Amino acid sequence: MNSPHDQFTMQDPTTQYPRPEFPSQPQPLPGLAREMLPKPDHGETSYKGFGRLKNRRALITGADSGIGRAVAIAFAREGADIALNYLPSEEPDAREVAKLISDAGRKAVPLPGDISDVGFCTQLVDQAARELGGLDILVNVAGKQQFVDDIAQLDSAQFEATYRTNVFAMFWLCKAALSHMPAGATIINTTSIQSYQPSANLLDYASSKAAITAFTHALAKQLAGKGIRVNAVAPGPIWTPLQPSGGQPQDKVEVFGSEVPMKRPGQPAELAPVYVVLASQESSFVTGEVYGVTGGNHLP
Ligand code: NAD
Ligand code: MG
Repeated sequence: MNSPHDQFTMQDPTTQYPRPEFPSQPQPLPGLAREMLPKPDHGETSYKGFGRLKNRRALITGADSGIGRAVAIAFAREGADIALNYLPSEEPDAREVAKLISDAGRKAVPLPGDISDVGFCTQLVDQAARELGGLDILVNVAGKQQFVDDIAQLDSAQFEATYRTNVFAMFWLCKAALSHMPAGATIINTTSIQSYQPSANLLDYASSKAAITAFTHALAKQLAGKGIRVNAVAPGPIWTPLQPSGGQPQDKVEVFGSEVPMKRPGQPAELAPVYVVLASQESSFVTGEVYGVTGGNHLP
């Protein structure tokens, strides 16, 4: 593997990051980035910012690890202050992210809590807006994915928890955030390749991601006239704690990413630039879009 010192150095993307096989590494839910082998790259040593989000105020869910962590690092280095949401058990990961934001010279506001609760979602947005002095960007990254092979074994409790975390929370957070957002503000949701090419063992998760995609299209149309843009990112397989903590069977984790044309999983750092461009004024005419980052298993 090459060591990129920034996100601009030209190199072969197929060998830029580790390829399978990977060690077996089961983790209890929700998993920690610091326990993963090999360690994911969230851009800690590579992401270089240029003030593209100077003085913006952003709330990011799932900001402790994986894609959310990479987005938090990139946004801070682009000049944004950040409120971070994550589950209380993820405090060790979240502390590392808060320090990286402070090291970038920006404000980090840690706001742990469970977004599957409507009361917490409202409180989260209000507290983020209060502590940041307003809200310009909402990035919904938090998500729940637990594979179940047979619909007979998929219980209502899991189906509901998946939808509360992935779909209802997005609705509650968008609704609450809009009362704080000025024209020029942006919302970015996180859908998945699963929205278009669902796996047999991800019935609840894949269908919740399809709901996120349609919600993004519809809300974008509703808010365009107000000058608020809404887009989504659709990742393919990405090396994060979501997968070894029950997102995939362990034997699939060991060969994770081998099914895409690039023959490897993506790293969270490879998603961050897309969230940055969708959050910034550079994408002023882009709304209601879904941007795939899939290693070649493209969106339809
Ligand atoms: P991750 O485990 O690092 O991030 C998911 C985060 O969701 C956790 O860190 C946790 O903080 C948060 N979360 C889960 N339940 C929560 C709850 N009830 N309340 C508050 N926070 C909660 O994994 P990731 O892969 O970076 O996942 C980020 C997003 O990317 C998810 O929406 C996921 O569906 C999506 N995604 C991931 C992949 C992949 O292959 N890793 C592919 C497509 C889409
Ligand atoms: Mg996490």
